[in-house]
Amino acid sequence: MRCPSCGERDTRVVDSRDLDESATIRRRRECNLCTTRFTTYERIESARLAVVKSDGRREEFDREKLASGLAKALTRRPVASDAADKAAEQIEAALRSRGVSEVPSGDIGQMAMDKLRELDQIAYIRFASVYQSFEGLEQLRQEVDSLLAEREEVEREVDIEAPRRGGGSAGKRYPKR
Ligand SMILES: [Zn+2]
Repeated sequence: MRCPSCGERDTRVVDSRDLDESATIRRRRECNLCTTRFTTYERIESARLAVVKSDGRREEFDREKLASGLAKALTRRPVASDAADKAAEQIEAALRSRGVSEVPSGDIGQMAMDKLRELDQIAYIRFASVYQSFEGLEQLRQEVDSLLAEREEVEREVDIEAPRRGGGSAGKRYPKR
């Protein structure tokens, strides 16, 4: 940090304060040579996080891009309007907590699917159907089946009568008590 008056590098910090919410620190500095005081604004830069794609290419992690992918899957689904942004934030926080500078894109895709599975099953299926890890329709069908089985289990536990979904399995659903 050079003194703006004489160019001396030897300066000291006389005051330092955080500026709210902007990840910026304002510092008053004094030149040790000519005693000129000046102010610097130092931005806290978050550590770089690179996404490693399946073909080995790397690109900067982009939370906006992740959020828009999630939002697309959640289009017209009954979730909070900021659900996609929140999910993207949580995924980013989880990635950063690993303390590494690179993450495989597959991990992010998996985390996105996990989040959507919690949020909304239709959004989850939408996302999963275009996501590369699904080899084909057969795998997707198995996933849908397991979701339906899971839901029936929940319905049985809470003793509610769900609308019949064709098939004829509905008749087998007796209350447990
Ligand atoms: Zn100076």
